[in-house]
Amino acid sequence: MSTLSIVIPVYNEQDAISLFLDAARPAVTAALALIGPDARAEYLFIDDGSSDRTADILAILARLNPDIRCLSLSRNFGKEAALAAGIDHAAGDAVIPIDVDLQDPPGVIVDMVRAWLAGAQVVNARRADRSSDSWLKRASAQGFYALLNRLSDYPIPENVGDFRLLDRQAVDVIKQLGEQARFNKGLFSWIGFRVATVDYVRAARGAGTTKWRLGKLWSLAIDGITTSTTMPLRIWSYIGGGIALLAFAYATVLVLHTIVTGVDVPGYASIMVAVLMLGGLNLLSLGIIGEYLGRVAREVRKRPLYVVDAPVAHAAHQPLEEE
Ligand code: UDP
Ligand code: MG
Repeated sequence: MSTLSIVIPVYNEQDAISLFLDAARPAVTAALALIGPDARAEYLFIDDGSSDRTADILAILARLNPDIRCLSLSRNFGKEAALAAGIDHAAGDAVIPIDVDLQDPPGVIVDMVRAWLAGAQVVNARRADRSSDSWLKRASAQGFYALLNRLSDYPIPENVGDFRLLDRQAVDVIKQLGEQARFNKGLFSWIGFRVATVDYVRAARGAGTTKWRLGKLWSLAIDGITTSTTMPLRIWSYIGGGIALLAFAYATVLVLHTIVTGVDVPGYASIMVAVLMLGGLNLLSLGIIGEYLGRVAREVRKRPLYVVDAPVAHAAHQPLEEE
């Protein structure tokens, strides 16, 4: 029997929950029909410390519907943490994180499940058209992903949010990642596996207002860069090395010039040489510290060194075919 877990982080969304269920149920039912007659769904809501009636509504819904579960966090931990909690507690063979505000259209779930049944372990949902977002949000998101992908050690697909399908194998790997600064989009990409992509058009928010403030988005962006890259730390080695080299060359010229033509401004040569050399050395040592810090950061994250896709086949279970 297959279970499909729909994981929905909610923060002060009392008006959006029933709208969401009305829209999601038909799509999820259609997806279950693809999987098989005994497939079932689990709607796992994560109440991220809401201060409105969200928790009460969820408690009532969970009591009335056997397929609705609710997990309440003790305070507002932010969407990334709420989503991590949902992924930890989801029981399904495939897990689909989705926003409650219907900006991630539930109809896409059918396409995701189809791709999953065809063998994909991760199915990304890519926003083909972001015209429902403001011009500023679109431009900043595009700039951010361009920068992130330049710096990052592994590609993080543009226009793919948290809305995607993760199969049990992928979920079990994500659950092992204990890092504190959570950037789910980066982690979902880091794990690898067979990835498929489905396109969709992002809708405008169904009810309520966005819970992201500019400051929170900024911290998410910084988390994204610092958890997926070490490049900004190491760049100073190269800049510092370059400047130190130039300084050394210029210092040689100055010293030779002073020896050959004598002193024109007393002290100029020695001050310039000292300033340039120290500046270059400062940057170079910052870069060296950065190299170590980058490694420390990577160690502290404790991500596994590699992720195995399929376990090694054992000879006893896989007899060689007779010819
Ligand atoms: N959310 C959450 N905790 C927060 C902020 C948001 O669980 O601290 C949930 C919110 O209820 C919604 C989803 O995360 O289901 C996306 O939030 P929102 O629509 O405000 O973000 P946006 O679409 O503007 O990026
Ligand atoms: Mg939204």
